[in-house]
Amino acid sequence: MANPFSGRNYDFAQFIEAKNLIGGEWVSARSGKTEEVVNPRFGKAMGTLVISDAADVDAAVQAAKAAQKGWAEWPVRERAQVMHRLKQLMDENLDELSWLLSHENGKTFAQSRGEVLKGIECVEMGASLQNMAAGEQLDVSRGVNCKVIHEPIGVVAGVLPFNFPTMVPLWMLPQALVAGNGFILKPSEKVPYGAMRLAELLEEAGLPTGVLNIVNGAKEVVTAIIDHEEIGAVAFVGSTRVAKLVYERGSKTGKKMLCLGGAKNHLLMVPDADLELTSTNVVGSYTGCAGQRCMAASVLLAIGDVDHIIADIIKKSEEIVVGENIGAIVDQDSKTRILSIIDDAEKNGAKIIVDGRGKGPKEGYWVGPTIIDGVTTEMRCYKEEIFGPVLSILRVDTLEEAFQIENANPYGNAAAIYTTNGGIADRAIKRFEAGMVGVNIGVPVPREPFAFGGWNDSKFGHGDMTGIDGFKYWTRPRKVTVKWALQSDETWMG
Ligand code: NAD
Repeated sequence: MANPFSGRNYDFAQFIEAKNLIGGEWVSARSGKTEEVVNPRFGKAMGTLVISDAADVDAAVQAAKAAQKGWAEWPVRERAQVMHRLKQLMDENLDELSWLLSHENGKTFAQSRGEVLKGIECVEMGASLQNMAAGEQLDVSRGVNCKVIHEPIGVVAGVLPFNFPTMVPLWMLPQALVAGNGFILKPSEKVPYGAMRLAELLEEAGLPTGVLNIVNGAKEVVTAIIDHEEIGAVAFVGSTRVAKLVYERGSKTGKKMLCLGGAKNHLLMVPDADLELTSTNVVGSYTGCAGQRCMAASVLLAIGDVDHIIADIIKKSEEIVVGENIGAIVDQDSKTRILSIIDDAEKNGAKIIVDGRGKGPKEGYWVGPTIIDGVTTEMRCYKEEIFGPVLSILRVDTLEEAFQIENANPYGNAAAIYTTNGGIADRAIKRFEAGMVGVNIGVPVPREPFAFGGWNDSKFGHGDMTGIDGFKYWTRPRKVTVKWALQSDETWMG
């Protein structure tokens, strides 16, 4: 397939049809069905994608199964070399990959570039598995040695959300592929092109035909993946509602399931917080990627008198130019939902102190930075994941009150504290009910080799993605016990 995209600016561009990749061929769905892919910056169709069903998933599984056996025989070092070459190709094509992403997702070029660079870090982690993937071994008794070999599972699958079309597949593919698995990837139907381009680059990097397969479509594809008896493990990233459904259905089939869900990240701010660091970070956190990040700040718990910092947050938010340094909302439904949540807060007595409604270019889907003050835990803007550039401020008097609010929230993806006091920071780290916590950092994403994943309603399943934990997720341990000579000790292994 030809490179689908060569544009290098925000001008509207038509993309090719996003087909399925099965056994090395780009093919249509067996049903013949297609849907439009919309460029959020313009609100108009930029291409189409094929809408697949269980028959396409089965064809992909059979292709992966046939290719996986040979792939698993490659030594881990050789499999990791494919990641070395992928990194090189991604570096060489950084601009193209970033523009492609900006077109399908609506991010600014700078934020798209940030996503691709983070994806490259994940590939580097996969490349380093040749040095990290050694299993443990120990002489457990006289003349008896035990060792663990991390074996591939076989055919595995990943289901993606719309907000990071290039990075989230790279939370999964490097580890799963270097582990020796065959992979079925199901991109979000809103943004199929990032995964498509990655598959092309992986082929160029030397991944054998059929090891990676892509099945495009919607819910029907996901259901077919989780029900398929020959798929041994699934990773899902998306909203909490779907993550829970997918986890429960998949677990019943005996598969290994790891499903990351939505978020409602709380930032706590105390009066001793550094003004510039805090305001810059908070604004970056809630407006970055137009708030469409599972790690975005959503709730600001303002503890005591922090009005001087809030004033700076307002000033910096008002300096943002919608369409220039904040990207688009992914579709009309999301925009409508975000606006209705802001309207609801206003109707219920909250104050809109920065108002992003009606901001941005005429065409496309835009919401500007919005700050809602005087929010209570009863309001929709507090309870629901907004997934837009909206910050809800709750005023509290004490740190304890702030911890209680954060702890009672059902999500548990991320939380952060802004303070210059080490004691307060330590307390917050231990008290937060979240899997990823930060001190003076608005997007506390663990970087490789650390793993990524939240708690509570932000994650269903066991293990984490990325890092060495990601590698362990995509493998099954084989325990080997060996004795070469008769020993005289009278243990059960004697
Ligand atoms: P989504 O849940 O709507 O869709 C995710 C995937 O599930 C898509 O591929 C979609 O086709 C599929 N899907 C949708 N409905 C389904 C159903 N009923 N049954 C089976 N599959 C279904 O999520 P989204 O809108 O694409 O992404 C945004 C969400 O993802 C946000 O909630 C965000 O917080 C979350 N997210 C979480 C993380 C994390 O690490 N926790 C990372 C990125 C995004």
